[in-house]
Amino acid sequence: MRILAIDPGTTHCGWAITRASIIFASGVIDPRKIPLVCGCGVEAANVARGGSACSACGNRLPRRSKASRAQALVQLRRELDKVIALHQPTVVLCESAHLGAHASAVIGVSEARGVVSAAASARGLAMVSMTPGEHKKTTTGHGHASKDATRAAVNGSLPRASNKVVVSYDEADACSIAWWGLMVWAPSQATGTSPGR
Ligand SMILES: [Zn+2]
Repeated sequence: MRILAIDPGTTHCGWAITRASIIFASGVIDPRKIPLVCGCGVEAANVARGGSACSACGNRLPRRSKASRAQALVQLRRELDKVIALHQPTVVLCESAHLGAHASAVIGVSEARGVVSAAASARGLAMVSMTPGEHKKTTTGHGHASKDATRAAVNGSLPRASNKVVVSYDEADACSIAWWGLMVWAPSQATGTSPGR
């Protein structure tokens, strides 16, 4: 079993992938970072801002405009597809929206979850949901752990293939979700009990 864990969001989306019983890789997607495409068709993904010259044709690149909500959802799907193609998960775990959060945050998380669900389904993968409290309790011992406490636990005690320090809260949450998957969800699949929805 190879778990892809997702902390969904339309401004930042954390991900983590397991291999055997460790967190093999993790990262964060910024769906608002849409690649600049030159008029010649070359994608200038590594150019920080528009106005510089295209490496292929030398023409000036267009200014990067702020991504619309719809463009961000498309970009999130593109980036998720890349992660799935690279790491070949067998199941996708995705945090549900915290219903006590601000309504706009709940809507953003729900829209991102829809994209995650579509990306998983397109690959024939099931998507399993859990609450923030469920995975935080597994990782930190407390369901109401702060973002800082969760990140500290990820950096301090989770078995990860890389010893890079996780800075992003979203990436840390994804690692915490992956750990819940390994410690709670996967064993429940073997015994027939079923946390997660
Ligand atoms: Zn060009």
